[in-house]
Amino acid sequence: MASRMRALTIDAHGGVEQLRVRDNLPIPTIDTPDGVRVRMRAAALNRLDLWVLGGVPGVTLHEGWVLGSDGAGVVESIGAEVLGCEPGDHVILNPGIVDRRCRCEYCLDGDQPLCLTYGILGEHRAGTLAEYLVVPEANVRVIPERIPFEIAAAFPLATLTAWRMIVTRAQVQPRDHVLILGIGGGVALACLQIAKRIGATVWVTSGSPAKLEKAQALGADHLLDHRHPDLGREIRTRTGKRGVDVVIDSVGEATWSQSLIALGKRGRLVTCGGTSGPLVQLDVRRMFWNQWTLMGSTMGNDAEFDAMTEAFREGALMPPVDSVWSLDEGRQAFERLSSGSQFGKVVVRL
Ligand SMILES: [Zn+2]
Repeated sequence: MASRMRALTIDAHGGVEQLRVRDNLPIPTIDTPDGVRVRMRAAALNRLDLWVLGGVPGVTLHEGWVLGSDGAGVVESIGAEVLGCEPGDHVILNPGIVDRRCRCEYCLDGDQPLCLTYGILGEHRAGTLAEYLVVPEANVRVIPERIPFEIAAAFPLATLTAWRMIVTRAQVQPRDHVLILGIGGGVALACLQIAKRIGATVWVTSGSPAKLEKAQALGADHLLDHRHPDLGREIRTRTGKRGVDVVIDSVGEATWSQSLIALGKRGRLVTCGGTSGPLVQLDVRRMFWNQWTLMGSTMGNDAEFDAMTEAFREGALMPPVDSVWSLDEGRQAFERLSSGSQFGKVVVRL
């Protein structure tokens, strides 16, 4: 086997001009008995990659930093104690890595994303946009060979984030009306698919009629123009003043006030980001009177990853793929992601 590999890397924070394909990186070695070396076949981009590229607090780069949190590939070799997979297996990776020896209260509860040792591939350690990657067995799940690598790579991070928001945090029920702001990104689309699988009624918003049409094809029940100045009141009117039960808002500043106008009594709002800005306002009188629950959410734990992977193996929750690029087209792939015009995941074939 060759000892060098190709990868999409950066040496410093900045724009897409920092992205560089290297073809002489050392192939990582398995240095723990639970290590699994995967020949990556596809990686998918997330907003997180743009943040790592641009620079986020707490991220320390070294030269030749490999980006990418999502990926799928084939197991190439395994450590001495690995039992759950073998060379040749097709696998997806859980992007969240935690010290499995940790005995903090969150780890003991099985809630790994809250642990201080928790880190994400591509952000805190070498990422998936490389021909080879070594991860702990706990992060590897075998998938059927019939699922294309481009779709498998697009699945983990967005679906894990969405699963925790919809299933664990909001506890969406079939009777619920769920409003998802800004349909088109990976997390919003996964929220739509999971909520429809539960049987809820789903409202989606976008500034793009083409995206709304595609969301309808995925099961969205009600389509709304993002730019409607009175979006919240429009939803109130169309629900007989009742409002919706659940709002999934990761847009933040630009949509927050309309999200709360749309949120009905006993409503739950879940956020996993603030792409338009981080600071929002809240009238506490409306919060207590309507008995709202406002929740944050990020990534997901092992149990959630297992539950969603089980659905995926059965053919459910296939993520829409916007476009597939080669490693040499890495910059174009990042530009596509930052344009915001994509519908579904931007994937890089390895
Ligand atoms: Zn811990």
